[in-house]
Amino acid sequence: MNRQLLYNPLRWLIIGAGAVICVVSALNLKAEALDTRFLFLTILTVTVASRITVRMPSVNGRITISETFIFLTMLLYGGEAAVLLAAAEGVCASVRMVKKPANLLLNGGVMAASTFLTVWALRSCFGPIINLPHSSVPATYVSALCVMALVQYVVNTGLAAAVQACKMGESVWHTWSKYCLWSSITYLAGAPAAYLIVKLIAAVGFSAVMVSTPIIGILYLTYRTYLKNIEVMAAAAKAEAAAAAEAEASAAQAEQARRHIEELSHYIAEQERISQALKESKDHFRHAAFHDALTGLPNRMLITDNLRLALERAHRCAGYHFAVLFLDLDRFKNVNDSLGHTVGDELLVAIARRLEAGLRPADMVARLGGDEFAILLDGISGVGDATGTAERIQEALSAPFSLRGHEVFTTTSVGIALGGVGYESPEDILRDADIAMYRAKDKGKACHEVFAASMYTRAVTLMQMENDLRRALEREELRVHYQPVVSLTTGRISGFEALVRWQHPERGMVPPGDFIPMAEETGLILPLGLWVLREACRQVREWQGRSPMHRALTLSVNLSGKQFMQPDLVEHVEDVLRETDFDPRCLQLEITESVLMDSAESAVAMLEALRAIGARVSIDDFGTGYSSLSYLHRFPINTLKIDRSFVGRMGPGVEKAEIVRTIVTLARNLGMEVVAEGVETLDQSEQLRALECDYAQGYLYSKPVSGEAAGALLAKRSPWHLSYGDVPGESYPATALNNVRYLKFA
Ligand code: C2E
Ligand code: CA
Ligand code: CA
Repeated sequence: MNRQLLYNPLRWLIIGAGAVICVVSALNLKAEALDTRFLFLTILTVTVASRITVRMPSVNGRITISETFIFLTMLLYGGEAAVLLAAAEGVCASVRMVKKPANLLLNGGVMAASTFLTVWALRSCFGPIINLPHSSVPATYVSALCVMALVQYVVNTGLAAAVQACKMGESVWHTWSKYCLWSSITYLAGAPAAYLIVKLIAAVGFSAVMVSTPIIGILYLTYRTYLKNIEVMAAAAKAEAAAAAEAEASAAQAEQARRHIEELSHYIAEQERISQALKESKDHFRHAAFHDALTGLPNRMLITDNLRLALERAHRCAGYHFAVLFLDLDRFKNVNDSLGHTVGDELLVAIARRLEAGLRPADMVARLGGDEFAILLDGISGVGDATGTAERIQEALSAPFSLRGHEVFTTTSVGIALGGVGYESPEDILRDADIAMYRAKDKGKACHEVFAASMYTRAVTLMQMENDLRRALEREELRVHYQPVVSLTTGRISGFEALVRWQHPERGMVPPGDFIPMAEETGLILPLGLWVLREACRQVREWQGRSPMHRALTLSVNLSGKQFMQPDLVEHVEDVLRETDFDPRCLQLEITESVLMDSAESAVAMLEALRAIGARVSIDDFGTGYSSLSYLHRFPINTLKIDRSFVGRMGPGVEKAEIVRTIVTLARNLGMEVVAEGVETLDQSEQLRALECDYAQGYLYSKPVSGEAAGALLAKRSPWHLSYGDVPGESYPATALNNVRYLKFA
């Protein structure tokens, strides 16, 4: 059932009942019994008592003293007066709390109804109420006071709870127990208090009691002050506790926040550390990608990037010039071979530092790999700046390096390319500087060359040649020519030197000087050299077989530096000897002085290995390199070939033959044989014979000729003694002599 629907009917029922009760009470009121004291009590009740409440802190309840006045009126003036007073008190007490007039009437009605029922109960049980204080039987007035208190309490609070419950839609019991239970004190205390006041008035008189009301008022105020103090103290304690709790809470919060920040800051620090580490590793990788690990210099990629920028700038700004220097160390390989790779690496690092020290901040030096470096000279005024820098660098690098107790000397070949609008890509500039560097090497190393367009043409030609030579080997375009080696004691051909030729389909016979260096550079010299060895061995073996006189014919074959360094050279030579059935003692392997001295330490082992298979070794072009006498002594060498430049300088005068004499003497002392190259005149031939040189080779006797021609030479001209003559016929046509037109056989 919806209780709220009952709210209004109940309200008006109570108001109506109250009104009826008031009217009935007013009609039954004995007006003559009312006096000024009644008026005083009524005023006191509706103005003061209805406002006074005494709080009971321990039970959380309140005592209103207006009930005491209603009970007092009931005991002094009877039920009707009490009912009317109660109705008035109900209205007045609620004026301050209730706004709606209906509710004022409701409170009045509740008070009127409950007081009416109390009066009715007392009268029913104990007869006229005003007689009750005068009863001498305690059981009577005690039980009367109990009925008075309980009925008033139950009915008053019961009606109020019923109305409230209907309004809120709750159960009456729940509302009553929640709001009204503790108000029983008001009634239980009020009834005996009223009884005592009646007794007091009887004893001391009304006026005396009324006089005591200020004292009661003072006591009441004191009590209120006391309560207030307790409240204040309690509130202060509570506030303190709350503040403490709050402080504690905020301290905890602060601690938590601090911890949070600390974890947070740890996290941030960790994040920072990670991002720092990430950044570092990124930097590291970026650095590694653009720098050389050994020297720390920028690498090819980085300098190419910078070259691209310089090139773009050159295209934009008319007056801007730059240059690239391409550096290659001369004979760096020797350092590695003789002192080891560690010293080689240290040399590269030391060179890097010297290069850096010798440049302007705007310039960049990079290591391209191996012993190659490149320098970008930014914003130069002309070619003079570039050649000047190249000279300074070459001078700086020529000072000895002190590495692990060794004094290491090095020289550098430098190629220079001037950057400008003629170039489209940085690779092209580097390529041209590289070409110029090769030109510097060709010119005898330790110098610099500025790139010229002709070099490019030459480089292209060389590249073309390389392809052609590769094909030449496959298509068998190579030939071996033979130049006789003449014994100066017997005048006979003692052997031949094999010299390679290239029978080019378009260019005709190409001399070795035009393709051997290139074959050496590209590695093609290895198959080429092996082919020459095999072909020459086969040919000479054939000649040897023609006559017992030719049985001991020797064959000299040139070995280039690369061939000589080939670890399996000895096996290759052995294979060829076996294949061609060639006597190793008839084979002379020619190695130039500079190749031997450049790799002195490893050369000793190789020479010994060659000697071990029975082959003989000659030092070619002797006198042009820088032979160390101590090495010469240690090398197991059979023959020295005096370079033709010394022979060519020999003339009629004795002093011009001094170098040749010295070399012959040296060879004698070292137990070696001597061959003189490039003998072009009879004088030279005679002088060499006088100096007791063993063998001679040169245009005087024969130019290098084809195998066929050489075979014919071998058949015809033996023994071969030469002297001046002027009668053609039996004579041999001189090739290089001006004063004698024919040579005659003795
Ligand atoms: P080389 O070993 O010093 O050969 C001697 C060179 O001097 C030959 O030049 C020869 O033709 C030349 N010659 C000989 N007699 C005279 C003379 O009286 N006057 C002048 N002016 N020159 C004379 P060629 O044949 O052009 O060979 C040049 C170089 O090429 C050789 O110098 C040698 O180092 C190299 N070479 C030739 N063939 C081979 C080969 O099969 N293998 C290797 N590795 N190198 C070779
Ligand atoms: Ca030679
Ligand atoms: Ca030579």
